[in-house]
Amino acid sequence: FPALTGDPALTGGPAGPGLRPALTFGDRSLTYPELAAAAGAVADRIRAAHRVAVWATPTAETAVGVVGALLAGVPAVPLNPRSGEQELGHILSDSAPALLLTAPGEQLPAALGALERVEVDVRGAGPVPHGTASDEDPALIVYTSGTTGPPKGAVIPRRAIAATLDALADAWQWTGDDVLVHGLPLFHVHGLVLGTLGPLRRGGSLRHLGRFSPEAVARELSGGATMLFGVPTMYHRIAEALPGDPELVKALSGARLLVSGSAALPVHDHERIAAATGRRVIERYGMTETLMNTAVRADGQARPGTVGVPLPGVELRLVEEDGSPVAAYDGQSVGEIQVRGRNLFTEYLNRPDATAAAFTADGWFRTGDMAVRDPDGQVRIVGRKATDLIKSGGYKIGAGEIENALLEHPGVREAAVTGEPDPDLGERIVAWIVPAEGQSPPGVEELAEHVARRLAPHKRPRVVHHLDALPRNDMGKIMKRALGRA
Ligand code: ATP
Ligand code: MG
Repeated sequence: FPALTGDPALTGGPAGPGLRPALTFGDRSLTYPELAAAAGAVADRIRAAHRVAVWATPTAETAVGVVGALLAGVPAVPLNPRSGEQELGHILSDSAPALLLTAPGEQLPAALGALERVEVDVRGAGPVPHGTASDEDPALIVYTSGTTGPPKGAVIPRRAIAATLDALADAWQWTGDDVLVHGLPLFHVHGLVLGTLGPLRRGGSLRHLGRFSPEAVARELSGGATMLFGVPTMYHRIAEALPGDPELVKALSGARLLVSGSAALPVHDHERIAAATGRRVIERYGMTETLMNTAVRADGQARPGTVGVPLPGVELRLVEEDGSPVAAYDGQSVGEIQVRGRNLFTEYLNRPDATAAAFTADGWFRTGDMAVRDPDGQVRIVGRKATDLIKSGGYKIGAGEIENALLEHPGVREAAVTGEPDPDLGERIVAWIVPAEGQSPPGVEELAEHVARRLAPHKRPRVVHHLDALPRNDMGKIMKRALGRA
């Protein structure tokens, strides 16, 4: 952890970035020496704890708290401030932290009442401890997004963070000169590991938007930020805003890198952004358990719907149901993605059975995501094995391509596709759509015809439901397990 443990990159020595801001949250900015001092004070206060929870609001206090925990070698458990009491109760009893780090004056729910609280002072000052933690020691325990079931605590060692950030630096030519802008939450690996620790490891800068808006993105990118990290719902809002916002067009056109992840970026949004700005959003694919597995490289080909190539140090294979490798990189043969490398977590906390089930006998992690590889090696995710693969009429159909086709219909604003039991077909394709405003909502015949014109006829939806909104979690991911039970 060179950049986080007191070397010049963090402390602003002769070779380091000196007084350039490390972090900016709203009107609060910390230089590297200020961050080192404030995090040092946190480290000093918590060093006897075996584990700390962090009330992960999008604030400088959260960033300082997590860096302080890294310096102290105490594993940090970021908590989603928007989670319900039941979920918080589950995470607290599962992870049993000794202390809770918060910003000063934070109102906390009753579930946290019993925890001893440490308020982070971003103007605090303490010495940067000489780290004794080893590479394999846990740095973070991050709960998965809970898209497919109750969140699981992934134990992430220090080396996984270092490995993934250095691999991304290689893929994206990410340096200390980069200024990253994002408005992501800090309780998942996207906003915390990539978005916060990423710039710090490079000795660069992070500017957090607080609340995401296309206008705020335009302001930061015009004001010197070089890269944007976002989730697909953010790029969707950007795509919608572009036609009426020349400032935004200009700002995106001038950015060095626009990166999307956490869920599939709809092709329609990718193409609208490319057409308006001349820039292609690049995708990377990762998970809480694996950090980043693949990315479109800065000098690579950002084709819509592809998530790039395996990062340096990541071994990736696609396997059939019986465990044999898929036949070919032909853009057609679907298999489950399995990965191996220094980017992987060590275990699910308190879940030895889930941990054992997640790995093959020879140490590959089963991601549960299905994909094909194009002849040039780029990975295209078809969807999750559990919810996105529909077996209909003898075919295996990925929900994603049908969703992408539906989104091209002018009457469709949002779309999700699932399967439901059908006596003839095995499963039939069901489309859940949010109709576009000011249009008459398209019905099943119209949408079936629309899809059959773009894809094969067996991919057309047989049932269409209209909703006011799709059920999404805090990362904007569609919670398919809530569909059908709504
Ligand atoms: P849970 O594991 O609790 O059900 P989750 O899988 O959504 O929730 P995360 O670890 O936050 O929790 O998300 C990882 C998943 O997100 C991946 O397995 C993959 O399905 C999806 N994902 C991430 N990036 C991309 C991407 N670029 N394109 C498509 N899917 C992606
Ligand atoms: Mg998952």
